[in-house]
Amino acid sequence: MDSKTFVKPKSQLRDYEAVVGRSCIEELRAIADKLSRKVVQNINSTFVGGGVAEILEHMVPLLNQLGVDARWDIIRGNEQFFEVTKKFHNALHGKNEKITNNDFELFKEVTRQNLREMQLVGDIMFIHDPQPVGLITKRNEVGEKWFWRCHIDVSKPNKKVWEFLRGFVLNYDAAVFSSPSFSQQLPIRQFMITPSIDPLSDKNKELGQEIIESVLNKYEINSDKPMILQVSRFDRLKDPVGVIEAFEIVRKSIDCQLILAGGTADDDPESAEVLEEVRNRAEGISDVHILLVPPGSDLEINALQRAATVVLQKSLREGFGLTISEALWKAKPVVAMAVGGIPLQIKNKLTGLLCYSVEGAAFDLKQLLSNSEYAQWLGRNGREHVRENFLITNHLKDYMLMFLALSYKSDVVQL
Ligand code: UDP
Repeated sequence: MDSKTFVKPKSQLRDYEAVVGRSCIEELRAIADKLSRKVVQNINSTFVGGGVAEILEHMVPLLNQLGVDARWDIIRGNEQFFEVTKKFHNALHGKNEKITNNDFELFKEVTRQNLREMQLVGDIMFIHDPQPVGLITKRNEVGEKWFWRCHIDVSKPNKKVWEFLRGFVLNYDAAVFSSPSFSQQLPIRQFMITPSIDPLSDKNKELGQEIIESVLNKYEINSDKPMILQVSRFDRLKDPVGVIEAFEIVRKSIDCQLILAGGTADDDPESAEVLEEVRNRAEGISDVHILLVPPGSDLEINALQRAATVVLQKSLREGFGLTISEALWKAKPVVAMAVGGIPLQIKNKLTGLLCYSVEGAAFDLKQLLSNSEYAQWLGRNGREHVRENFLITNHLKDYMLMFLALSYKSDVVQL
């Protein structure tokens, strides 16, 4: 079985006091105390790439520091399995995908293999996203409570795929969605908890100008030219081609450059193909930098976000969209499509600008590139919005309270 071990966590809990205040950390300790005898087993499908891995990477060691025995394991699957789950992912976002009975059979077969091979040991089983959802089959043998954490917007899913997954979801004690508008009607308890960013991680911590410069040098980016940045996996739902189209419009009136920085995720077999499409589309357009950033390049992503003049997120569909909070935390002005969890983070004209099309994105980008005072004001507001709502400390508290809400059958939880 694949388990993630954290030898030496990078951030210490006490370091967060400077960001969120001491009372917030004391509150976390008091809540965690009630969970100290529970094993919380997180299971998803990859240790690297994408938002879920990003969150668990920071959350699990912090829970450990709080005295909670949190663990992180992944399911195993072959290439075909991840092709099927990628189709499920797209279909749940409403994309028209051809899904066959063989796909469902393959999903069930890989689930059975994992059920045979994995050690399921949690008192609290915390299962993330559709790929491992079928582990619930063991609910009578393992765990006290099972939670299904859905990180994607399943409000308008392909019915066939949702019905299939729903058969598993119904057996959980509770489902967790990132926004009320993402959820489905279910006969089990539902919790609404937004994801978060870690302000002290390599991805988000303050950086010296020399590090930023060295990253720009490495990628041969001119630091004097205004920079539009989108950071995303190469995935069609992130609309990288739309980003290039918006840039082409902006470039007609403003001299600037575009950076599309992305990597691939182990559980996303489509990314190489999309990268190729993007490279083809960008051919012959000057000042477009397409950067293939290897997994774990958190400092580099951080540096690029800090170097950006405006951050764009042109997604056609989105889960929460962690890249938005990452950019806002760096007080960057953000232009983003009004999809998925983005409007939770971007309050239009207050913490950024929401757009609905390529042309709209281009219009907003031009506005921010030509009015730096307004752009900075939006960025500063955005940072405070993230501090209040989307930092890992809020998230830890929400999860722990949720575990407690279901884990004690008759005890009154006294904090
Ligand atoms: N990310 C990264 N390298 C990349 C592309 C993305 O580290 O090349 C990170 C990004 O900074 C963010 C996460 O992966 O922390 C993506 O999360 P998001 O919710 O925006 O999108 P998802 O990939 O989960 O759909």
